[in-house]
Amino acid sequence: MSTCKSCKKLVRSDQWWSLMVEQPWVQSLAAVVDVATQTFEGVALLHWAEKKGKHLAPNLALVRNPQVTLSWLAERSKNFKDHPLDAKEFFQYVATEQLAATGLITPCPHCGGELTAPRPFNLMLRTHTGPIESEDNLAYLRPETAQAIFAQFNNIKDSSRVKVPYGVAQIGKAFRNEITPRNFTFRSREFEQMELEFFIAPDEAIQLLHGSVAKWNEGADLSAPQPNWGWEMWHHYWVVERTKYYNDIGLDASVLDYHWQAKTELAHYARATVDILYKFPFGADELEGIAARGDFDLSQHQKHSGKSLEVFDDELRVAAAKLSEQERRVFLDEVAAEWVDANKSAQDAAIFYDKLFAGRFIPHVIEPSAGVDRLLLALICQAYDEETVADEKGKSETRVVMRFHPRVAPIKVGIFPLLKNRPELVQKAVEVRDLLRPHMNVFYDEGGAIGRRYRRQDEAGTPFGVTIDFETLGERGDELKDTVTLRHRDSMKQERMKIADLLPFLLAQVR
Ligand SMILES: [Zn+2]
Repeated sequence: MSTCKSCKKLVRSDQWWSLMVEQPWVQSLAAVVDVATQTFEGVALLHWAEKKGKHLAPNLALVRNPQVTLSWLAERSKNFKDHPLDAKEFFQYVATEQLAATGLITPCPHCGGELTAPRPFNLMLRTHTGPIESEDNLAYLRPETAQAIFAQFNNIKDSSRVKVPYGVAQIGKAFRNEITPRNFTFRSREFEQMELEFFIAPDEAIQLLHGSVAKWNEGADLSAPQPNWGWEMWHHYWVVERTKYYNDIGLDASVLDYHWQAKTELAHYARATVDILYKFPFGADELEGIAARGDFDLSQHQKHSGKSLEVFDDELRVAAAKLSEQERRVFLDEVAAEWVDANKSAQDAAIFYDKLFAGRFIPHVIEPSAGVDRLLLALICQAYDEETVADEKGKSETRVVMRFHPRVAPIKVGIFPLLKNRPELVQKAVEVRDLLRPHMNVFYDEGGAIGRRYRRQDEAGTPFGVTIDFETLGERGDELKDTVTLRHRDSMKQERMKIADLLPFLLAQVR
């Protein structure tokens, strides 16, 4: 976190650039120069500093002391050819008044002033439990939901009688002391999280049990889990599964993106992490992270609680017992390199193998971790649409429609009697409502013109509308008796359907 020396606002250093690009002064200044082609007009920058800059970024060095600031930029421009200037660096230059004395200054996104060097801060929210505020009852609101799964690992394992691989999922509130909550509900201090800890055996155990470990490669078959899968296959499996989940609720491949973290970005314990991003109107940003966390979590809990979180696998013990002394030595030699990668000491490795040969290990974990509020925001962004359509009289108008996938639409079907002053229509409509209501969220509406009622449900994203009319009552012949008009939200097409067919049709759409 950095503090602005001028306006005193706080800025999370890892979010500095994404905050910058949202600022009017940054957008206004970027319009004056062409960062991409490395062209700057000193005159244009001076003009900007004297006019717009004064209002938008009063504490920016370029505004306070343009001549000196521009001289540094001019100096730098001499080696643009060899070292092109990127956008971030450009904005640092226009924030720097005394380059030789201070080095490049990072500007405050809010006022252009100088930001202090970043320093660590606690993202967790502190509170006190009980009536007295003292250090004794200091507490923190949880910053993620996952830890309870690890803390309860033994309880779950013993009461559910499960064997790895298996998963434990958790959904709930989490809290972070965000400095700049923004982008609607994308980044908030209180949010809903859903996490899955999927426990697997370490690759060394798979090797002992199956003689080899299936490693991931492009085109690997991930459709059904196999007993010889190592962590890499499981990690990719969950990326595919989670992608299917997003596809199934209306976020298709064209709006999703993936960021595979480079080795240098990874947390020290993580073997691989991929972020699934949604292309929000404010930029692609993370919906979910899927991390292969090794045995980091359980081994930390075991270490600090002093309680064993190992599992015992008799098949593994039997497999290990079958190895000759020679085979055992070969096995150790072959897998020793893995431990160097995983940053474990030789001593830790020796303990690990002793346990493994006795059939015991700490499970490893693949962790898909998703933000529920973010997902809802993505679904809303994805669903929102405006289109020009003709109204009942043929006049064109703008229709606002939320194109939610039927699976996630908050209301599945609207039920409308054609006229509310005809008791027989109302009675039949109520019958249809009561037929569907136990199975799905139904909205009953009898007021106003039918077209208006359709539009209202379009705005709520209700995928289907059912109208009960005189045909339903059999007034236009027996053939249409007990049929209704089914209207489709997206195409606005209408069809006749038997009341008896409604429930199976709708259930197939919304499940
Ligand atoms: Zn500031």
